Amino acid sequence: MFIMSEDSQRTQGRDAQSSNIMAGKAVAEAVRTTLGPRGMDKMLVDSAGEVVITNDGATILNEMDIEHPAAQMIVEVADSQEEEVGDGTTTAAVVAGNLLGEAEDLIEQDVHATTIVEGYHEASAIALEAIAEQISEDTVDDEVLKQVGESSMTGKGTGGLTAESLAETVVEAIRHVETDDGVARDNVTVHTQVGASSNATELVPGIVIDEEPAHEGMPSEVEDASIAVLDVELGVRTGDIDAEYAIDSIDQLNTAIDAEESEVRGYAETVAESGADVVFTTDDVDDRVSNYLANEGVLVFENIGNSDARDIVSATGARRVGALDDLEESDFGHADRIRSENFGDNDLAFIEGGAAAETVTVFVRGGTEHVVDELERAIGDALDVVATALASGEVVPGAGATEIAIADKIRQEAAGIEGRKQLAVTAFADALDVIPRTLAANTGQDPIDALVDLRAAHESEGRAGLITDGETVTIDDPFEYGVVDPADVKREAIESATEAATMIVRIDDVIAAE
Ligand code: ADP
Ligand code: MG
Repeated sequence: MFIMSEDSQRTQGRDAQSSNIMAGKAVAEAVRTTLGPRGMDKMLVDSAGEVVITNDGATILNEMDIEHPAAQMIVEVADSQEEEVGDGTTTAAVVAGNLLGEAEDLIEQDVHATTIVEGYHEASAIALEAIAEQISEDTVDDEVLKQVGESSMTGKGTGGLTAESLAETVVEAIRHVETDDGVARDNVTVHTQVGASSNATELVPGIVIDEEPAHEGMPSEVEDASIAVLDVELGVRTGDIDAEYAIDSIDQLNTAIDAEESEVRGYAETVAESGADVVFTTDDVDDRVSNYLANEGVLVFENIGNSDARDIVSATGARRVGALDDLEESDFGHADRIRSENFGDNDLAFIEGGAAAETVTVFVRGGTEHVVDELERAIGDALDVVATALASGEVVPGAGATEIAIADKIRQEAAGIEGRKQLAVTAFADALDVIPRTLAANTGQDPIDALVDLRAAHESEGRAGLITDGETVTIDDPFEYGVVDPADVKREAIESATEAATMIVRIDDVIAAE
């Protein structure tokens, strides 16, 4: 008796398990070589020929267009990691893949899936305790925050900019949006500009938008600006142009032109008389209006994007106005300075010192599109980790030191766990070794030797990581070298990797509709 369509595909038992595990492992394997300061980049080319060059785990996995449902779950691990803490995506995916690899061995040894799941959950709880023990006792000050930012960017394609100088800007930006209620991470944006291969970043105390003045004769800079944000067309409405004029004399034509002129002039005068120094509108501005307003010294931006309009409103406190007649002084927003600057192909407007919100923009310039895209991702990660570290005040040693400590604690506690579950708990510790092993492999070292040395150093010294500095690798206390990660990044990686791996292991029946 068939209860399903003949076309649907069904895989059961061990076959289902091993196919899922294999797919999950393959995905993790794909990002493994990008881990750490000496990790390599990947170039992804989509069907349209678009190229992305990146070192970022979540970006790689999303660009890969993965279809296998179990593999997709590992992609989700990276995504949720990105969403929750903004960094550690490669770590989370690689750990998830190795948890699956270890599970495969256990299944082969006839350890039941539910025993593996229980063991993994128990081990993950021990891991969280181990992380808590690794948290630095020192206060998370600017120096530590800089180290957190720098650790997250080391080895990323940051063009001519050093991770160190970028980290300084990142910390300054995050400090700027720190309030009594916490860190308003969303108030920091990154704006990149392709062109001059200048190696400078700038922290703009406000927002940057891709817009140019409506007229060349307008001022390029306005101080202490009163700002109007309009959704109004400043000109004869496009709809009116199609209106047919029954014109059969020159006089009538002149009258029609005069009427239009005075209508347009009326708009310009209304705007000028309102007292606004700077006008942003989401609609068109007639050249005659621009010309008039340029003469009046008003700076106007036309056809601005809806999201730009929203950003201006939230930074300056302006109220959007939908009809010119409604424009009042109370609708104006304010900013200390608005300036327009030309960058070859495009113009940018800098809105600084907005009255409504403490927003800042990390303004970065880089040689090419690919460089600035990767820079934007790296800085985004750094902003996230610095914000996370500042908010929680908890940082742990990087460079594999925390993973070594976690694995050690799990192995110690495993001794007291009865039955086959002990095998699963120990397997979890083995899976975590992948992080230091991969860091070693990616710096060209023998992963087994490095792991043995690291464990020995951990045993005798306590904190021990594989610190990479350019070509040299040292086994030492990562805190001494400023290699630090937020505790939350490690916690999230362990939790999301455990969740995905246990979910995949438990599946023994895959039913796919055609
Ligand atoms: P992820 O996507 O997991 O953040 P990364 O490629 O950013 O992957 O690598 C992060 C790992 O690199 C962390 O374990 C971090 O501690 C480690 N790391 C950062 N800087 C150094 C360094 N100088 N030496 C060794 N390890 C480092
Ligand atoms: Mg990272």
